[in-house]
Amino acid sequence: MLQESAERPRYSIVIPIFNEEAVIPLLLHRLEALMRQLDGRTEVIFVDDGSRDSSSIVLAAKAAHDPRYHFVALSRNFGHQLAITAGLDLARGDAVIVMDADLQDPPEVILDLVAEWKKGGEIVYAQRIEREGETWFKRKTADLFYGILRRLTAVDIPRDVGDFRLVDRKVLDVFKQMRERDRFVRGMFGWVGFRQTAVPYVRSARAAGSTKYPLRKMLRLANDGLVGFSDIPLRMALWVGSIVSIAALAYGAYVIGLYFAGSELVTGWASTIVVVSFLLGVNLLMTGIVGLYVGRIHAEVKGRPLYIVARKVGFPAEAEADLPKDEPAAWERRASWH
Ligand code: UDP
Ligand code: MG
Repeated sequence: MLQESAERPRYSIVIPIFNEEAVIPLLLHRLEALMRQLDGRTEVIFVDDGSRDSSSIVLAAKAAHDPRYHFVALSRNFGHQLAITAGLDLARGDAVIVMDADLQDPPEVILDLVAEWKKGGEIVYAQRIEREGETWFKRKTADLFYGILRRLTAVDIPRDVGDFRLVDRKVLDVFKQMRERDRFVRGMFGWVGFRQTAVPYVRSARAAGSTKYPLRKMLRLANDGLVGFSDIPLRMALWVGSIVSIAALAYGAYVIGLYFAGSELVTGWASTIVVVSFLLGVNLLMTGIVGLYVGRIHAEVKGRPLYIVARKVGFPAEAEADLPKDEPAAWERRASWH
């Protein structure tokens, strides 16, 4: 049993798990069916992102008894994007697939992704042509977000593509060197380049349980996508500042004109307030945008690890050595001064 697990698999499937107990039996069933159809040894990596239900018990037991399954638990909820990253760091396959646990990404589509990979695709992403069972609000906000993102970034981040994709080992090795903290994984894969192809699929409704992406987490993801891949919001300060200054100058000229024309000027009180409060608003907005970027710098400078592994079950020993070593943290570097 140990011997088999020490051999490098051809495929790795990475699945982030956050309170998914309702869907796990079905998920395991569908994975078994898929693995029978795949043409190479396959490992499944479950990343428990701080679940508080029975998910971790069930999956750790699975990993302990079946060498094809591995289980890694993070020490708390680090979020979907970091859970994916932890799984990718541990994956050993030649082709690595990221998939949601809730079966919205049908496992059978992986066969199509693999077919494209064999034709030479280095990043094969699954593109949703239809979304079933998602609210109007979610679809509309997603559309709006991807529209804005595409306008604001130079990176080609395809529309209607989530994190369901297959990446070649070559691409993954590059990705593992990108240790940025606030991550937007789909943008990072867009950024690296390589031969990218799409496979269309119908995104089904969640098989069981409820969404683990409340609005708060969606907004955070949107922020990571925009701020991480564009500095246009930051430069907006320049444009808005210039436009407002020109308008203010023109208004000044107008007031001087009125003065020379002999008009009564005290009546301009209301417009003064409007202009002042408008300028104040613009100022605060721009400071806030700068704050978003400074916040990211602050997070990077602290140099903490991206995520913390609390426990691993069923991994062969060599997978440990594959974990990238993060830069020494700032406090570790400082410790040598004394
Ligand atoms: N997930 C996670 N950590 C989180 C939130 C979600 O690992 O903090 C996982 C979740 O278990 C699922 C995937 O990310 O496998 C996508 O979440 P979900 O299906 O709830 O998002 P939605 O499809 O509603 O956008
Ligand atoms: Mg889902």
